[in-house]
Amino acid sequence: MSDADKNPKTSFADKMRVLREQYLERLKSRRFLILDLWQGLHQEPREDRLQELFREVHTIAGSSGTFGYHSLSLFAKELEAALKEIQASPEGEWPIGFQGLSARFMTFAEVLQAAIDYPEGGASAYHGPAAGPSPRRDEGEATKEGHILLVEDDQDLAESMAAQLGAFGYRVELAHSAEEIPRAFAREPLPEALVIDIILPEGDTAGPDAIAEMHKKLARCAVPVIYISARDDTEARLAAVRGCGSAYLTKPVDIGSLVEWLDRLTQRVQDEPYRVLIVDDDLPLAGHHALLLENAGIRAPIIADPMDLVDELREFNPDLVLMDMYMPGYMGSELARLIRQTENFMSIPIIYVSTERAESVQLHALLQGGDDFLTKPVQMETLIRVVEYRAERFRQMRALMVRDSLTRLLNHRNLKESAEYETKRARREQRPLSLLMIDVDHFKRVNDDYGHGAGDQVLKTIARYLKQRLRTTDIVGRYGGEEFAALLPDTPHAGALGLADELREGFSRIEHRRAEQAFNLTFSVGVATTAGQAETADALFERADQALYAAKAAGRNRVMGDSDVSV
Ligand code: GH3
Ligand code: MG
Ligand code: MG
Repeated sequence: MSDADKNPKTSFADKMRVLREQYLERLKSRRFLILDLWQGLHQEPREDRLQELFREVHTIAGSSGTFGYHSLSLFAKELEAALKEIQASPEGEWPIGFQGLSARFMTFAEVLQAAIDYPEGGASAYHGPAAGPSPRRDEGEATKEGHILLVEDDQDLAESMAAQLGAFGYRVELAHSAEEIPRAFAREPLPEALVIDIILPEGDTAGPDAIAEMHKKLARCAVPVIYISARDDTEARLAAVRGCGSAYLTKPVDIGSLVEWLDRLTQRVQDEPYRVLIVDDDLPLAGHHALLLENAGIRAPIIADPMDLVDELREFNPDLVLMDMYMPGYMGSELARLIRQTENFMSIPIIYVSTERAESVQLHALLQGGDDFLTKPVQMETLIRVVEYRAERFRQMRALMVRDSLTRLLNHRNLKESAEYETKRARREQRPLSLLMIDVDHFKRVNDDYGHGAGDQVLKTIARYLKQRLRTTDIVGRYGGEEFAALLPDTPHAGALGLADELREGFSRIEHRRAEQAFNLTFSVGVATTAGQAETADALFERADQALYAAKAAGRNRVMGDSDVSV
């Protein structure tokens, strides 16, 4: 293992150095081309030569600042603007005259030469990643124990919430007033998250006020905070924002949503890294952006040739596209429209990255289907913030569209779509794919005995339970009513049967609550596994369904495989 591997920061700096060296090599090779172009233009000022020179200068204007060549970037931009003005004016009329252009070109050429001759002098401005955001995830991190502080003055509510959160593996410590909050901050280790009522005995915004006070003392939001309240007005919500609030849930609090927030804020369930597709023909610059994003835990492959764009969209399924504005033969805005025409990517965020500063051009590009405009050289902080913000919003929106609103699992249609995709993949890769169909036993009685609300709660619990117990590569959906389905890629029949039985067994031990009453439930499972080339998703569902039916007929609370059923 090299030293660079041991220390991610060194390795980042090393990668930066390599990119800068590559960039320098490119500057060297472009210098001759640029001088040639200039010579040619000098002899005969042809439109195509002007165009080509513009492209070269434009590329340097866009990328050199990023690699620390600040004066080169400055003079390149000036020359770029002059060339553009000439292009825009009627043929033969050069608004700044050939002399004016010549003077600008010479200065640019000198600075370019200096950048090549004294690379360190020119490129010393890169300050390394120290100021950048830390990676989103630490690999190999121990599982968190889930210690939460709940500050709620209603004792009954507090205890019931603590019990329910307990079922999801959180250890909840209770406090009942704002004055107890500072004490929680005095102890080590701090709780992993705070859940705080807005109205506490001390006042109508006592919860967030106490946190804002702590915030002033510590000069940071030390622990993520979720507010819960009967208040739903702007004043209360604003107090929550000032009190470091990450989320605001109104009472009665939906435990499913609360757990979802807690999972996310305590990083117990780690979201998949964001996926950003970089479309840019300027490879060193694209590489630089990719590195910055990857250092922040974001996956960021590069497409230099837009001919691969549609395939890559489908294959990589990005959360966001980072788009160069001018590429040889393509405009970024054209590609943006092309992306918007592609099924499933109609509303993906597209961020343009360009040297273009003219508002009218930016506006035009945005109207062609862009969401944001970043000007080169892009600051690291800005890039990551904008990307994370947009990608997160997109994920949330997509989740609303494809997920069932009660359980947040994939809905019927999207489950079936995933199944189509997974069966094809299993066939292509010749790996087994198993499907579990899960149906709660005598679920109607839950509704009848404890009310529909209790029934809904049970469904949410099952959804959480399945998500927690299955692998992240498994696909879980709500097939309908109280029926769930799980697609298990790469899982042979025997393995799926064993897993299904473990799930069944574990579920029967969960205690569900309704006010004072506690009850247990069971479910039955039908298991089917892909068989050979001809398997379709529909056939797989059909066989799992028959197995489930057989399990019900045989007395419920059991697992049956499709091999147990005579078809
Ligand atoms: P079995 O063991 O044969 O599966 O019996 P069961 O009662 O679970 O099955 P049945 O299909 O007869 O009843 C399903 C019940 O699930 C009926 C329906 O009212 C209830 N249900 C379906 N969707 C929801 C829901 O979203 N919320 C609640 N609370 N109940 C639901
Ligand atoms: Mg049922
Ligand atoms: Mg049913």
